Amino acid sequence: MTSTLESLHERIIRCEKCLLCETRKNAVPGKGNKNAEIMFIGEAPGRNEDLNGEPFVGSAGKKLNHALENAGLNRNMVYITNIVKCRPPENREPNQEEREQCRKYLEDEFALIKPKIICLLGATAYKTILNGSEISKNHGKLVNKDGRNYFITFHPAAIIYNQKLAEDFQKDIKKIVEILKEN
Ligand code: URA
Repeated sequence: MTSTLESLHERIIRCEKCLLCETRKNAVPGKGNKNAEIMFIGEAPGRNEDLNGEPFVGSAGKKLNHALENAGLNRNMVYITNIVKCRPPENREPNQEEREQCRKYLEDEFALIKPKIICLLGATAYKTILNGSEISKNHGKLVNKDGRNYFITFHPAAIIYNQKLAEDFQKDIKKIVEILKEN
């Protein structure tokens, strides 16, 4: 395992394990508090993230920030990362090979940060980590697998034009805080 978060991020920035390195502008390592109790996992960097080298800095990121603040959190209190660390061309879903090549980085992030709850944002994170489907039925649930606690919710991009989902998303993020308080 990589010994520090900084050295892990360095390895991610230089990574050439899959073809996404040929089309990216910047690789996007996770960002946030290295002692975070909550880790969020999205799908993959989009255009803004690729340009800036930081996760969730575009419109989906604004929705996530809003939900965090509504739950009494902010980005300095949590750690935010993605299933794959480089932008897939035209924002297509990352393929199996790309997800597998990036999996070790995610495992290292888990091991270094040791979050109490790992929040899966949307279908790609849910499918990749828990082989799950049907977010609309399963959002708001906590699942224990291999000694880790995963919480399932929507991807913040999915709530942008849907007020009902936006409310459900905000409730889900608040629920994470309540679960942490109870334990
Ligand atoms: N969508 C994601 O899944 N991740 C990001 O970092 C930005 C948008």
